[in-house]
Amino acid sequence: MLDKVLIANRGEIALRVLRACRELGIKTVAAYSSADANLKHVLLADETVCIGPAPSQDSYLNMPSIIAAAEVTDAVAIHPGYGFLAESADFAEQVEESGFVFIGPKPETIRLMGDKVSAIGAMREAGVPCVPGTGALKLEDADRNMRIARELGYPVIIKAAGGGGGRGMRVVHSEATLLNAITITQSEALATFGNDQVYMEKYLERPRHIEFQVLADGHGNAIHLGERDCSMQRRHQKVVEEAPAPGITAELRAEMGMRCVDACRKIGYRGAGTFEFLYEDGAFFFIEMNTRVQVEHPVTEMVTGIDIVKAQLAIAAGDALPYTQEDIGMHGHAIECRINAEHPSTFMPSPGTVSLWHPPGGPGIRVDSHVYSGYAVPPHYDSLLAKIIAQGEDRPTAIARMTSALGEIVVDGIQTNVPLHQEIFHHSAFRAGGTDIHYLEKRLGLK
Ligand code: ADP
Repeated sequence: MLDKVLIANRGEIALRVLRACRELGIKTVAAYSSADANLKHVLLADETVCIGPAPSQDSYLNMPSIIAAAEVTDAVAIHPGYGFLAESADFAEQVEESGFVFIGPKPETIRLMGDKVSAIGAMREAGVPCVPGTGALKLEDADRNMRIARELGYPVIIKAAGGGGGRGMRVVHSEATLLNAITITQSEALATFGNDQVYMEKYLERPRHIEFQVLADGHGNAIHLGERDCSMQRRHQKVVEEAPAPGITAELRAEMGMRCVDACRKIGYRGAGTFEFLYEDGAFFFIEMNTRVQVEHPVTEMVTGIDIVKAQLAIAAGDALPYTQEDIGMHGHAIECRINAEHPSTFMPSPGTVSLWHPPGGPGIRVDSHVYSGYAVPPHYDSLLAKIIAQGEDRPTAIARMTSALGEIVVDGIQTNVPLHQEIFHHSAFRAGGTDIHYLEKRLGLK
């Protein structure tokens, strides 16, 4: 096992990694920004290193500073969490070149999957079904672009190859606006992601977002842990996630899961990863792969009993996967609510001091959170405060437990989206299961 791991992240995921390390007897180093000295995992870590001032560019995105922190503390490996540098191939490369273990895939895999055009190309080749669409578009090929869009049929969506976080996408409803949309998406992509490559996909009008969790050890062993439904979204950001996805049969799960596993073997995947699909009319269409642990990984852990973060650490240590596909089952149902520090109806961030924090509890309730009474939420980072996960023998039980948990949680001093979650859990469409990705925004009157 690894001797000492540097955690290059903050918030709930940093605490999640610290807890997994502790369970495995691994020493921890918290690399934190000067705004985060009071974070829970910083207070709990064996060693701490301040890696820079509050702005992410100067701390959590500051590669030399993070690597120097690993050097001075004699850490052997770096866990990047999610966000920040988790999907930076350059960072993974620098970590490895500096003699540390990067807890994630090989840099070349991150590079391949980080560019959506090359990722889709690799997945097509590996037999994974993708959204009908193109490779990189050339602006000057106006006739070709118009022909392709006509063949796909409007609406189409123009997407940035380097896009992420739900940004860098533009839906086009008619030929009149196509070329302009390509131009604008390209220049926005260059400004935002430093890469002006864009591509075109058929715009699916009422899909669900369903993703498959995989684990691969880099020695040729790969398994899937089933799927999650993350269709409850606002601005392409997930709000509620659940496992399994309502209505997906065991046969379809096995078939899609095996396609993902095959793809992992073909690209030499190592670590935890997620294949994201849109699901419409009974068919799956790959949109992208995330080469890291996801925010919503706990719902999979709750239904499979597999600790994904511990698996990441074991794989990074060079261990072979200790289980085969036959060992994996899905039991019951789990749902996660992302509790954010934000105004429940305007969604404006609401940083500040949490004067009172009282997390929910009871059977089947898990709370992943770095918050405590007196903790000050800094304004510099994303607004995720806590993840409440409710598990039960079936979906109605998980929903009942979550409804009860949402009525119990107390977060005083700042505003949160708990009222939004309470509303969602009372919607009959959500309770029925299988709502599409536009459902929440339509309900909120945003569409
Ligand atoms: P990001 O990396 O920014 O998350 P994705 O490619 O994963 O980008 O897409 C994010 C979300 O955008 C999807 O969950 C879905 O809601 C929407 N989306 C992306 N591609 C399509 C498409 N072809 N048709 C309809 N919706 C799409």
